[in-house]
Formats: sequence, C-alpha cells, structure tokens
Amino acid sequence: MGFLTSASPAEARVDLSAIRHNVSSLGGRAPGAEVMMVVKADGYGHGAVACARAALEAGATCLGTAFIQEALELRAAGITAPVLAWILPPGAELDRALTEGIELSAGVGWLLDEIAGAARRTGRPARIHLKVDTGITRGGATPAEWAALVEHGLALQAEGLVRIVGLWSHFACADEPGHPSIADQLELFDDAVNYAEKVGVSGAKRHIANSAATLTVPEAHYDLVRLGIAAYGLNPIPRLGDFGLRPAMTLAARIALAKRVPSGSGVSYGHSYVTERRTTVGLVPIGYADGIPRHGSNTCQVLVGGVRRTIAGRVCMDQFLVDVGDDELAAGDEVILFGPGDHGEPTAQEWADCLNTITYEIVTGIGPRVSRVYPVERP
Ligand SMILES: *Cc1c(COP(=O)(O)O)cnc(C)c1O
Repeated sequence: MGFLTSASPAEARVDLSAIRHNVSSLGGRAPGAEVMMVVKADGYGHGAVACARAALEAGATCLGTAFIQEALELRAAGITAPVLAWILPPGAELDRALTEGIELSAGVGWLLDEIAGAARRTGRPARIHLKVDTGITRGGATPAEWAALVEHGLALQAEGLVRIVGLWSHFACADEPGHPSIADQLELFDDAVNYAEKVGVSGAKRHIANSAATLTVPEAHYDLVRLGIAAYGLNPIPRLGDFGLRPAMTLAARIALAKRVPSGSGVSYGHSYVTERRTTVGLVPIGYADGIPRHGSNTCQVLVGGVRRTIAGRVCMDQFLVDVGDDELAAGDEVILFGPGDHGEPTAQEWADCLNTITYEIVTGIGPRVSRVYPVERP
C-alpha cells in the first residue's frame, strides 16, 4: 500500500486508467452511439477536470454537467469539447454559457425565450437540446407540452437564435431491468422524436440512456449514451455482476494518533463503543463533514494494516476511531476506507450497502477537505 501523497489528512486517489478502461469498454457496448461523460458534482467526487480529460482520451466525444457553473469550470481548465448543461434555474448565467460555447437543455418555453435573449445579447446562437419528460417527472416538457416546445424551438431556430442539436429524455427506473416504465418511456421518446423530425427538426442527436440503460437496454442507445456512475467504475445494478467495471476511487487517510487504552474505555461521543480489554485505538482524521456518514458509526468497515476493522463508536465531524486490539499501529499509518477491493479493502458498494444507500451518494459526498490525487500511472 502506498503513502498519502498530499499534506491533507485524507485523500481520494483516482485511478484515471480505470476511468479510461470503463469509458472505452462501455462505449464498446453501444457501438453506434457517441459517449457523453457526465462530470457533474465534481465528476461524482472524483475531480471533474481530470475525469473529463481521461474520458475524452478514451473515446468520449462530449461532456455533461447539471449546472452551467460546472460547465464553465471545464472551460476554465482549457477543455474545449462540447459540454451540455441541463439544469438551468432562473438567473442561470446564460450569456456566459453561450460565449463559452456551452450547449443548453430546454424543456419549457420561458427558458427557450431566455436562451434566445442571451443569444441576441451575445450574438452567439445557442446549441440546444430539447428535453421531453417521458415519465420521470423531473425536467422536460410533458408529452402534452412537447409539440408547443418543438414549434417554439423551430421558430427561434428560423430566427437564427438557436440550433436544435439534441432531442432527449431521462429514465426513471433503468436500474431495474424489465421495469415496465422502461418500455413506456422508450415509446413516448420515439413518439416525441418522430414528431420533432416530422415538423422539421433534423440532425439532432437523440439520447436517453444513462449508465444502467447503456448496460441493459440496447434499444435505448440511440445516437449518444450519457455515462455517469459506471464510467467511475461503480455499478448501477450491482446484482447483475460487475460488468467488467473498475472502481476508480480509493479513499485513504492517515492515522493521526494511536494510543493504548484500558479495558472499559468509552470511545467517541456517547460512548456507543466501549473497549472490552486493554487495546490500541487509532484516530482517523476524516468525519461526517467530509462525507463519512454518521450512520456508519459502529457499522462500516475500513482496512487498517491489512485487517478489516469496524469503525469504533460515533463518527464525529472531523474524525472517527478504530480499535486494532494488540496489532501494531502508529501515527502516519495508512487507513483505506474503500477502494476497488483488490487489497482486501471494502468497496464503495459495501459502504453503500452498509449505509442503505447507493454508491452515487458515497462518492459524491466526499468533501473539499479531502484532496483528489491522481497517482502517476505505470506504463
Ligand atoms: C446524472 C445523470 C446521468 C448519468 O447517470 P448515471 O446513472 O450516473 O449514469 C445521465 N443523464 C442525466 C440527465 C443525469 O442527470
């Protein structure tokens, strides 16, 4: 096991070769489609810029973010690939988005008008993806609103203010193979696309698949698949096996302090853990403020000195403790919270299972005090 490479007490090590592997193998499952790498929420906690670059190297042709701010961070880092941003609340920085060449989603008429206003002000026509809500009831026009949205978009396109470059939607239950809503959503999506093409939209990319649909619904691949969680090596449908994915993130910390304590020592707030014999405890300097859920108290495991240990007592804001018995432990020793599992460490999936959540929440929750590092790769 390596040493922490940064001065911070904990670090998320991201294996960019795993990301490249995942992107290229997932792309191979959708042969007729382009790959969009979704790097919202700082690349699912892995670092958006580095992950975007790795994905582009591995064949992704474009990037996706939730917010314009996230897309602008990619541009600020010098990334010139197409980027789509899809949550545009009132007040979103549309002018800057257009000057930076960010593509925008629109599923409602007032937003189309605001985008058109930004295009007039900046002199930059907007590249837009019209979104239809086929059954998740989040963003997008309902099927009943779709015709009006498309006609509105076409009118603005005729004025040269927008160019409709995408027609898209999003699944509600793609991670439940065979769920009846999948077929229903595909049918509504086909209807929406057919209508748009019939009334004059042409050359727009059709896309609806997230990671789960990329893996299990080939008829949903269309022209583009939007890869999030699976590109980071985490499986959206764990019960179906690992799909050959390689988890990219290893979360590691360094013991800040180790000490011998007597039997009967109450450990951490509330004394929910009490030592049963003379033992060595180690302080791990990462806590719930850094995304280690307090529900992991006395439940989740970490790897210390090659041995799995359950977190001893409550997870605090900045720290938690481990009890290593009579094993050697010293300040500076490495603790692996989770990783690919290759060295016996828990996986993010195990953390998610233990916390009754999904891996998305584990990796995106890792806070800014944890540095993201990209170990130099061996050729
Ligand atoms: C987050 C997101 C994705 C990626 O989803 P995964 O399940 O992580 O692959 C795709 N499309 C949209 C609209 C999203 O919000």
